[in-house]
Amino acid sequence: GGVSLSLALSMSACAGNRGGGDAGGDSNEGAKIGVAMPTQQSERWIADGENVKSQLEELGYEVDLQYANDDIPTQVSQIENMINGGAEALVIASIDGTTLTGVLDTAEAQDIPVIAYDRLINESDTVDYYTTFDNYEVGVQQGTSLLTGLGVLDDAGQPTGEKGPFNVELFAGSPDDNNATFFWDGAMDTLQPYLDDGTLKVPSGQTAFEQAAILRWLPDTAQDRMEDLLTVGGGAQIDGVLSPYDGLSIGIISALRSGGYSGENLPVITGQDAEVGSVQSIMSDEQYSTIFKDVRELGKRAVLMVDALMKDEEPETNDEETYDNGAKVVPAYLLESQIVTVDNYEEVLVDSGYYEASDLK
Ligand code: BGC
Repeated sequence: GGVSLSLALSMSACAGNRGGGDAGGDSNEGAKIGVAMPTQQSERWIADGENVKSQLEELGYEVDLQYANDDIPTQVSQIENMINGGAEALVIASIDGTTLTGVLDTAEAQDIPVIAYDRLINESDTVDYYTTFDNYEVGVQQGTSLLTGLGVLDDAGQPTGEKGPFNVELFAGSPDDNNATFFWDGAMDTLQPYLDDGTLKVPSGQTAFEQAAILRWLPDTAQDRMEDLLTVGGGAQIDGVLSPYDGLSIGIISALRSGGYSGENLPVITGQDAEVGSVQSIMSDEQYSTIFKDVRELGKRAVLMVDALMKDEEPETNDEETYDNGAKVVPAYLLESQIVTVDNYEEVLVDSGYYEASDLK
């Protein structure tokens, strides 16, 4: 009894220190934070990991940053190792939003707060906070830019009266990523009126999420599906492709090229993440648009959340209703995204310092 009592006393003394005095949170100097990221196959996640790590380190935290190579068991064991290694908080961008329940129970048992990063973690009440972009709005922006590229909407988002008909094919993200349905719903709510009135047609007839979804967001799978769609669609000329992620757009463009599309003839193709190769593709009029999500800001939000929790303060949130993970509604901080095309990439991506002009050469 004596040992655990004195341990409990020293722990509560410690917790007391956190809240007060000790000029600006130095009391957490050296506390370990685990940061679990899904993959290094995509630039955005590399940038996310580096941002979160460096910003936490600036505040004096020690960071265990791991990438899981898009492999679920790897991510689970990385998080276990973080917990065993003494992590005092976890920041997690999940691969599959429902596979972390077990390891998160361990975190909960040890009172380690968990922040879901960009992707919601589902079916677990251990998720304390969530920071992400307004994912439904990302989808609306993707749908809107497809319509703008086709000339159905003008730059102000108003219908031009153009009725096509235009042939489009539709892609969705990974079905185990909670964001994928938000993107899809936002895009489809935007496109549906034009599908209903015949402005848009889907030659393959594949308009269900399950048909459009690309497991693990793999470019090669998107490429294969686009090749199939060209056949299934009976050789109809494709005017537009809804793509929810730049990596998929790259696969889609390859398939279209093999199918005989090039230059002017390439359809209007959307994307997401403003990855360098895809911005270059936009600059050379291959891909039409992408969605810019400033991951510097997302990193900052996650770090603010961690720091608040470590100081026993309540993190700032701006959404308390959208992200029901099946076990609870997770309080969230949502950021805004932006449509990028050849007309504004310089202003949005270069003038903001996100990229150097030379990065895009
Ligand atoms: C992210 C997107 C990203 C996609 C593929 C999603 O969860 O929100 O920004 O394009 O994963 O990595």
